[in-house]
Amino acid sequence: MAADPAQPPTVPEENDVHLPDYHTHTARCGHASGHPGEYVETALAKGLMAIGIADHIPLLPERAPELSMHACELGDYVAEVEGLKASFPDFVLLGIEADYRPHTVSEVRSLLDSHPFDYVIGSVHHLGTWGFDDPRQMDGYTEREIDDVWVEYFELVGDAAESGLFTILGHLDLVKKFGYRPTRTLNVELHRLVDRVARAGVLVEINTAGLYRPVGEAYPTLDILRRLCEAGVAITFGSDAHQPREVGRDFDHAAALAQAAGYTEFSSLVRRPEGGRAQVRLNHFGAPAASAGRRSSAASSSASGDAPRP
Ligand code: ZN
Ligand code: FE
Ligand code: FE
Ligand code: ZN
Repeated sequence: MAADPAQPPTVPEENDVHLPDYHTHTARCGHASGHPGEYVETALAKGLMAIGIADHIPLLPERAPELSMHACELGDYVAEVEGLKASFPDFVLLGIEADYRPHTVSEVRSLLDSHPFDYVIGSVHHLGTWGFDDPRQMDGYTEREIDDVWVEYFELVGDAAESGLFTILGHLDLVKKFGYRPTRTLNVELHRLVDRVARAGVLVEINTAGLYRPVGEAYPTLDILRRLCEAGVAITFGSDAHQPREVGRDFDHAAALAQAAGYTEFSSLVRRPEGGRAQVRLNHFGAPAASAGRRSSAASSSASGDAPRP
């Protein structure tokens, strides 16, 4: 998308909710398309408050080219997004989506510590060796007791919250992705999870990608959002875009969901010039968009192959 530097980006009517999008991927992960600059261009065109690039961290301990970049690419990824940050100060942030797996915590921690990430999304995609959100591994749902799957998942997400590694918890109830629901309410387990998240002071994203998965709803569900709101957990937003055009997708719905859950405010992230993790700022819904920063001509590049999400 080529924007004219002399013209402010036009804001389509359906995207008049000026929220930040902190959950976007790039072609580097092997199952997304588009370069960071194209995601930034879309965020500008849609009038978002800010965009964070948060591609998948190299998957440890095994290598999976269709799931994440290789460890040797991390430096190039960081440099590319840092370049965009220089061109769009106060609009672009450098993030990463990091897997929470108990046996890789120290390796992940050292990767996170050796790069200047503004924020880190913590996601649970595995129960042991089972990649439960991978369509190729859906058999796992019928091989296990579904309630046990949910309980184990919530326990790991709580561990992730308490690990201190993460700024934002990604897709908090991802285990619902393919529509396998628990047979009971899991009231006790949910209460415990929400309590752990609240005490840890970590943000939770409303992730709109779930609307396009078999479950057909955003993560997390309204019931969980209500509990989070009541517990004082702050929220932010992520599209989990795997193509540039998905940036900010259904954020009007996400804002409505947040407000239905009782939220009057959402969090945005402000980069610290001196480095370190971003500061969290509270915003009221309906507040005017922040300055999108200066546009540079270096921000666009060609699209690449459109690989399906595994
Ligand atoms: Zn992905
Ligand atoms: Fe994820
Ligand atoms: Fe993601
Ligand atoms: Zn994700």
